[in-house]
Amino acid sequence: MDILISGASVAGPALAFWLNRYGHRTTIVERAPSLREGGYSVDFRGEAHLTVLRRMGVLDAIEQAQTNMGAMWNVNVDGKKLVAMPGDLFAGDVEILRGDLARILYDATRLSTEYVFDDSIASIDQDRDGVTVGFERGPTRRFDLVVGADGLHSNVRSLAFGPESAFVSHLGLYCAVFTTDNYLGLDHTGHAYNSPGRMVALYSARENTEAKALFWFGSPVLDYDRRDVAGQRELLARAFEGVGWEAPELLRRMRRADDFYFDSISQVRLDSWSRGRVVLLGDAAACPSPLSGMGTGLAMISAYVLAGELAAEPDHRAAFERYEREVRDYATGCQESAVGVAKFMVPENRFMAWFMNQNYRLLPYLPWKGMMAKSVRKTASAITLKDYEVSRPAGPAPRPRPSGRAS
Ligand SMILES: Cc1cc2nc3c(=O)[nH]c(=O)nc-3n(C[C@H](O)[C@H](O)[C@H](O)COP(=O)(O)OP(=O)(O)OC[C@H]3O[C@@H](n4cnc5c(N)ncnc54)[C@H](O)[C@@H]3O)c2cc1C
Repeated sequence: MDILISGASVAGPALAFWLNRYGHRTTIVERAPSLREGGYSVDFRGEAHLTVLRRMGVLDAIEQAQTNMGAMWNVNVDGKKLVAMPGDLFAGDVEILRGDLARILYDATRLSTEYVFDDSIASIDQDRDGVTVGFERGPTRRFDLVVGADGLHSNVRSLAFGPESAFVSHLGLYCAVFTTDNYLGLDHTGHAYNSPGRMVALYSARENTEAKALFWFGSPVLDYDRRDVAGQRELLARAFEGVGWEAPELLRRMRRADDFYFDSISQVRLDSWSRGRVVLLGDAAACPSPLSGMGTGLAMISAYVLAGELAAEPDHRAAFERYEREVRDYATGCQESAVGVAKFMVPENRFMAWFMNQNYRLLPYLPWKGMMAKSVRKTASAITLKDYEVSRPAGPAPRPRPSGRAS
């Protein structure tokens, strides 16, 4: 089949990888002008995540690029270390910067997948035999199937399922990330400072050669233009006005950062992930939010299952149903694990911040430290992966890149 995927981050290229293997032709359209770098680290944990990475043959590359982070420190306004947050509690089996993962998946697919950057789907018209897709820039084309792997604010979901407000629920936080110099000289660690309803942090990255600045703040839903990055920078600057420690310096650096990422912390819930020949994947279908630490693993597993079911079942409607049956409970578990975490992540007041620090201080000695780590791992492993390899035909030959906007 000719399959169009919207979104070239994690879910989209992971799906293209498997579809190529099963002999389909894949096209990925990405709104950004090139592969999006940036983002903080994402974790893979437990056997299900690792099995998919191993079957894709990308585990070694991911391990080579892993962050190797140690404990993180909560600091006071003068930068004095207050308490260490144990690395083994939060990190998975392998942790990698999101941008590095996206690059590995892109490299694993770019010879067989047609990448079209700087464009977006404008219309989707389904009929019995296929889908006619209009683009904002390129000419109209026909595909057999369309996949929305375009994230929390999925364009495909809006076009084929309805407005975002029907499916996205805000968890009360916003987050921003960008890359800067490791000017505090951090060595495989991070420093985080809490002020009521705000958290600002700096973490070393890429073997201490650079750092990631991270901002979290509590807020009800904000009305802002998601394409207006300058406006988002202003919004963040206003939210951290008067916050001490390194916040003023990091806000200055934010103005120069070219990989600034800003978004709400939200979840996505839909009754069904497909409509005819259109299907959703990753955050577009079931974003569990970064609070779960599961979004990326869920996206990779979902891509594996969706492609596998399409290979095993020639009727796409039946394959979509089976994909959803295999993954839905798992996705719900990932989502549930994030609910309630927001208030610990960004303490609302000084008492809560003090209380959390006491917890981190005592955690290594408390019996539930092991239980917490075990429970996260249990959620991440709560799916039995089928072995779809049996039905795998030879993959398609690499195809020439079209001229123009493809990269
Ligand atoms: C730049 C960036 C930074 C991130 N940083 C973090 C982080 O620090 N921590 C964290 O936990 N998660 C982060 N995420 C989200 C994380 O990658 C996802 O939660 C998870 O990996 C699932 O991936 P996904 O591919 O489903 O969605 P996403 O990673 O959100 O990818 C969606 C992709 O679709 C593209 N897209 C959006 N609209 C359109 C459109 N109209 N047409 C075509 N393409 C479109 C986006 O540009 C993006 O490349 C980040 C995502 C991005 C894009």
